Amino acid sequence: HPTTEHVKAGTATHCPYCALQCGMIVAADEADGVVRNVSITPRRDIPANAGGLCQKGWTAGELLTNGERLTTPLVDGRPATWEEALDHAASRIAAIRAEHGPDAVAVFGGGGLTNEKAYLLGKFARVAVGTSQIDYNGRFCMSSAAAASIRAFGMDRGMPFPITDLAEADAVLIAGGNMAETMPPFIRHLTLMRERGGGLIVADPRRTPTAAAADLHLQITPGTDLALALGLLHLAIAEGYVDDDYIAARTTGFDAVRTSVSAWWPERVERITGVPVALMRETVRLLGTARRAMVLTGRGVEQHAKGTDTVTAFINLALALGLPGTEGSGYACITGQGNGQGGREHGQKADQLPGYRRIDDPAARAHVASVWGVDPAALPGPGRSAYELLDALGTRDGPRALLLFGSNPLVSAPHVGRVIDRLASLDLLVVCDIVLSETAAAADVVLPTTQWAEETGTMTNLEGRVLLRRRSVAAPSGVRSDLAVLSGLAARLGHPRGFPDDPEEVFEELRRASAGGPADYSGITYERIAEEGGVFWPCPSEDHPGTPRPFLDRFATPDGRARFTPVAHRPPAEDIDEDYPLYLTTGRVLAQYQSGAQTRRIAPLTEAAPEAFVELHPDLAERIGVADGERLQVISRRGSASGVARLNSTIRADTVFMPFHYAAEGRANLLTNTALDPISRMPEFKVCAVRLEKAA
Ligand code: SF4
Repeated sequence: HPTTEHVKAGTATHCPYCALQCGMIVAADEADGVVRNVSITPRRDIPANAGGLCQKGWTAGELLTNGERLTTPLVDGRPATWEEALDHAASRIAAIRAEHGPDAVAVFGGGGLTNEKAYLLGKFARVAVGTSQIDYNGRFCMSSAAAASIRAFGMDRGMPFPITDLAEADAVLIAGGNMAETMPPFIRHLTLMRERGGGLIVADPRRTPTAAAADLHLQITPGTDLALALGLLHLAIAEGYVDDDYIAARTTGFDAVRTSVSAWWPERVERITGVPVALMRETVRLLGTARRAMVLTGRGVEQHAKGTDTVTAFINLALALGLPGTEGSGYACITGQGNGQGGREHGQKADQLPGYRRIDDPAARAHVASVWGVDPAALPGPGRSAYELLDALGTRDGPRALLLFGSNPLVSAPHVGRVIDRLASLDLLVVCDIVLSETAAAADVVLPTTQWAEETGTMTNLEGRVLLRRRSVAAPSGVRSDLAVLSGLAARLGHPRGFPDDPEEVFEELRRASAGGPADYSGITYERIAEEGGVFWPCPSEDHPGTPRPFLDRFATPDGRARFTPVAHRPPAEDIDEDYPLYLTTGRVLAQYQSGAQTRRIAPLTEAAPEAFVELHPDLAERIGVADGERLQVISRRGSASGVARLNSTIRADTVFMPFHYAAEGRANLLTNTALDPISRMPEFKVCAVRLEKAA
């Protein structure tokens, strides 16, 4: 630690939070290893934010000086040395593995972890522990869009074009996204588009700030987005907006889709979705007559038990209009978590190896095993998906130990009441975190780690642009990086080599492991990222420029053509009825991020968004006799949560909304449904049936 006082001039790095990964300069005073007076300045050289930041980014420096920061490992709630904590965790893991087999040890990661951490975590699970039981919280985030993109395009690069293309579009449809709150600098690109005369259409059950800024708001009944997409395609065909030349040259399977949407005439779709035919017609006209157009999806349409099919239906619409893989047009998933894109590419998913390879592909197993220096036959196969993994903990055939990095499932998992019980039934819970999150508070071993500006690593933003998040300030005494934790545990489990704690060394191995895969990083180096401000994958060699628009010439399917897939609408897994007559939908607010473990500890953010609330229509509030600001109980078949009533005449009268960032009784996920998408294994966070009661 530095012993003389000095002032740092500032280091160019990136925000700790969302997938926009806004560029920022972090400067701070440091004396005797203590960081003070952190200042944040937005960077103009990063196109995603181009000089803008949101409230969370401006206050991110407070994370570095936060008084609730963990700096000492805890074992059974008592302070311990690092050696004691790592020895204890490793010996318990070894004993559980010896008694019950390697799959008795599970590993859970996060979409905010750097690429290096996500990569080393996957290798740690499969090589040092030998378990197939690894998944991560990104499964709860954008997995349905990822599955739909792979289905249609053969590859998932969430936004397969630079974000600056948005400003050049003539029409943009956002289905289930609220960027004005979740990533405000994103809106600048849409504002530029609208200033040029472009049209913005937003499909959302709520009149969010994004919907309010749109030319058309399709205020849809929760859980009916798939029907809306089918109806829009029906209209596009009927009104002659389909691009026949593009379909013939660049796609397969349109005839089956054309037949499948023929029964989705507009009046039928209006009855199901609540969206007037005239608005659907205008949407199709805007998209169909645009020279350049984009279809974007967010969590609103993805976090459903039919999320993959819903996104597929929106991709079908985009394909029929001739958008994906053409200059200035396309389909994109707007990834949410900080490394939501990179975090899904390098092996922390249950079914995946680095480079976005499938774990059941023999060639992928052989390649990755050769980089890891192990026998391919010794690599485990696919494991349980995130919720299935959490739900199996402590059961007869399920894991008995869990190691958790970069996640807080006791707030963010669906049906959280059940997850609380599952975690309590474990023989060992090890949590790495920067603060005592709700999940860390339930752990046997807590390991305090470094955070964003205290460590170096790469992040891949929502465009697929690989960025360098640089170490900008000293870490407090007593913390170690997640890489060092993995290195220390691996050594104690008999792997003294192969798990370096230096991020660049890990990245060099990641480059080799990803070579030849869909997410090929082999041509990307720290030096290049620093010089070029980011490099788009795939980038197969150091003299390759990177690939901002991977589908311009061909899609990543065997024949190079995008695939139409017919899909059918069905109701939510849990529809409303007499006992539970209202839809609950959950989401985010501007001043909080994900489970709130970080942002609920930052004073300006808690002042702006202090507690859980229940947004409801004034007519509904009158029916149950509750006034604005009074406390409400929201009850589903799985549990009960509470929040302050917030009356809003723009929300549908059959729908209530709760943000999911809060703890204790304010946890919206006490209510949410665990019904899973059959392909992506995404839980149905976005719709379940509830009733309201005035709190006692
Ligand atoms: Fe950070 Fe996202 Fe806000 Fe940008 S938009 S400052 S990346 S939270």
